[in-house]
Amino acid sequence: MDMNRLFSEAQKLIPGGVNSPVRAFRSVGGTPRFIREAAGAKVTDAEGREYIDYVASWGPMILGHSHPGVVRAIREAAGRGTSYGAPTEAEITMAKKIVDAFPAIEMVRMMSSGTEATMTAIRLARGYTGKEMIVKFTGCYHGHADSLLVKAGSGVATLGIPGSPGIPKRLAELTLSLPYNDSAAVREAIRRFGSDLACVIVEPVAGNMGVVPPEPGFLEALREMTREQGILLIFDEVITGFRVAYGGWQNLSGIAPDLTCLGKIIGGGLPVGALGGRREIMEHLAPTGPVYQAGTLSGNPLAMAAGIATLDLLQGKSYADLEKKAETLCNGYRDLFARKGIPVRINRVGSMFTLFCTGGEVTDFASASLSDTERFGRFFQGMLKEGIYLAPAQFEAGFVSFAHTDQDIARTLEACGKVLDAGGM
Ligand SMILES: *Cc1c(COP(=O)(O)O)cnc(C)c1O
Repeated sequence: MDMNRLFSEAQKLIPGGVNSPVRAFRSVGGTPRFIREAAGAKVTDAEGREYIDYVASWGPMILGHSHPGVVRAIREAAGRGTSYGAPTEAEITMAKKIVDAFPAIEMVRMMSSGTEATMTAIRLARGYTGKEMIVKFTGCYHGHADSLLVKAGSGVATLGIPGSPGIPKRLAELTLSLPYNDSAAVREAIRRFGSDLACVIVEPVAGNMGVVPPEPGFLEALREMTREQGILLIFDEVITGFRVAYGGWQNLSGIAPDLTCLGKIIGGGLPVGALGGRREIMEHLAPTGPVYQAGTLSGNPLAMAAGIATLDLLQGKSYADLEKKAETLCNGYRDLFARKGIPVRINRVGSMFTLFCTGGEVTDFASASLSDTERFGRFFQGMLKEGIYLAPAQFEAGFVSFAHTDQDIARTLEACGKVLDAGGM
């Protein structure tokens, strides 16, 4: 089916033709690929063209697409019914896997999206502490709940402004947005607003302004300052959970947040989210506590089956091997761009990476924003033509999966070489 026709039809029926904005290719131009099917590291579009995929459904597909073990688990579960609205044994299995993998999680509640997990985390933090203000970091994305869709506020004292029409100003004013990796800004915010702060929420490795690793000492400082003031520390590990390690960044860093948000990989490609944390805090959720949270499809049997199968399979895999493939890819990109004298900065943490079209270091949203997004758009289009499917925006993470072969990586670098040789970058 012709892609342009599909896109024009979709645009008549769905805002922008897509059910999530970045999919529309607005920042890179052109017509989005409509995907017909996917297997392993490859996706095939509606016109039958195949691409090596580095989007991985924005993170979940760490085993690659249509993994036989995951597909089988979903098929078997579907044969037993798709939803009951009653507890199941699979939910205990899933909860146990998460609790075993995360030292800081004693109890967990399953939901249907990462947005639900972060939204609930904020509500629980407010309900538990009795305070209303929250701190987030500019360029971090925590789903699209009102309190979390707040734009850059410059400097510590700046109150949040609505990041989207439809968010009440009075609600946005309760959100302080501070520069990532700036613990001095957090110290100042706590000095000024400490007694009103319910929580600090952070992507321990930022993935949504492109990949930006935490600088040594940043997360440690957050842990220390929040603990001293009775402010909850929330790690949003929706991307990093089971991506940077079996478990999450908290396992690698040894830092224990009070609450952890999960999603993406733990659903094995089905809609999922989870909120976990210390028992004493989690028990404030209904029905043991007064903080309300619910979901018709929460703990859905298909999502649990896909998630459990994914985590089981991941336990037998070497994250070091996965990381090595990502390292080869990033080193290759770096060499190819350097040979042409085109400035790029590649940030990589494990199997997540971003090629920023800027020569300077990228440590926060301000430095990420110096990227030449038009150059990125040209690179994206060139790669797409060569059969490589990258995230269609500069400020996103790319993902290598266990399904990518050394040959896939080599073919990707070959494509990059061709794109750069063609000039016009
Ligand atoms: C994707 C993402 C979310 C939102 O998850 P959805 O399932 O898209 O609602 C929240 N936080 C982070 C860090 C994410 O990357």
